[in-house]
Amino acid sequence: MLDHIRQSLDRIAAKDRRRVLRPAQLAGDGRMMRDGRELLDFSSNDYLGLARHPLLAERAADYARRYGAGAGASRLITGTSAEHESVEARIAAFKGSEAALVMASGWQANAGIIPALAKAAPKTAIFADALVHNSIHAGCRGAKADVHFYRHNDHADLERLLAEHGAAADARMIITESVFSMDGDRADLAALNATARKHDALLYVDEAHATGVLGNDGAGLTADNPGADIVMGTFSKAMGGFGAYVACSDLMRDYLINMCAGLIFSTAPPPAMLGAMDAALDIVPGMDAERAHLGELGEQLREELQGMGYDTLGSTTQIVPLVVGPESHALALGQHLLDRGIAALPIRPPTVPKGTSRIRLALRSTLKAQDVDHVLKAIGEWKLP
Ligand SMILES: *Cc1c(COP(=O)(O)O)cnc(C)c1O
Repeated sequence: MLDHIRQSLDRIAAKDRRRVLRPAQLAGDGRMMRDGRELLDFSSNDYLGLARHPLLAERAADYARRYGAGAGASRLITGTSAEHESVEARIAAFKGSEAALVMASGWQANAGIIPALAKAAPKTAIFADALVHNSIHAGCRGAKADVHFYRHNDHADLERLLAEHGAAADARMIITESVFSMDGDRADLAALNATARKHDALLYVDEAHATGVLGNDGAGLTADNPGADIVMGTFSKAMGGFGAYVACSDLMRDYLINMCAGLIFSTAPPPAMLGAMDAALDIVPGMDAERAHLGELGEQLREELQGMGYDTLGSTTQIVPLVVGPESHALALGQHLLDRGIAALPIRPPTVPKGTSRIRLALRSTLKAQDVDHVLKAIGEWKLP
């Protein structure tokens, strides 16, 4: 087995895809420290700069002091505290849903909830956007279901697959992200709602990148386009902390408590995590100015990149891809930017489709227009290798 493990790592290295962990420290002003250097940070998902916000850190510390370091058991045993219930009530109010449920992480939520839902009917068919996150793929792989992927944001393709495979199943589920993590574009939730109703399908929406950033009060795109049956999102990106939420009906919550292995067999989220969630819910609805600034930075970045001839795909959000094509170009541009004090992630297959390797520029409200000018200037100085 160990020989196979070594060979497997060697194969990854031969493709120039071997990754290593590098300690970094986020700063509050759109910067981060890594390898003893200060870098302009276009790579983390801390879109509102809340990861270093004193209110979140203080409340997390306060909850830990008052309620301890751990929850002690899973939710169904003794792990449910009054703080879990109060945070869940606040999430439901924020999202405009009947109920909510907190889970350990977004990855765990998707990987656990999708198989649990699929079990409800003898034969479930799942229709998912081709560009959904790895955790949704994990959930689909783990589900006893007939799984189909429709072309990214292509409603005609979804309709075609539903017509072809939907009726043969006892139940149908459509899965999308509201903002796509690598392209920074949006799903048309109104159209997906209509398609779901038409085909008697359940609509499942992942708001990991929209929560805190988009929609009324930053409650995500489902806040403006209600109707999805189950919405999940995270507190690990714009919300500055850690953990996931599910916003749904009482019926759905009851079902997950009884059927979702990722919830039933995992220790309940600890007090500190709930404290940070509670503090984020205090301040995020009031951050319209930061959201507007983030939107303006995105406009500035896209406009200039397109002026230089770069494709930014369908991005309309704080995530702006700069497509360069071959993997080696993405790596070279990433290094060029790093040499100029800018951390921006090269993203390559299998994370994105072949031939669309890119630099993923993630904006943060703590960045200034001059910081975006700085990265644009550095990109302008880059010559194809
Ligand atoms: C980051 C992400 C997740 C996972 O969330 P974590 O809380 O970080 O585990 C799920 N879905 C999407 C679309 C994501 O980008």
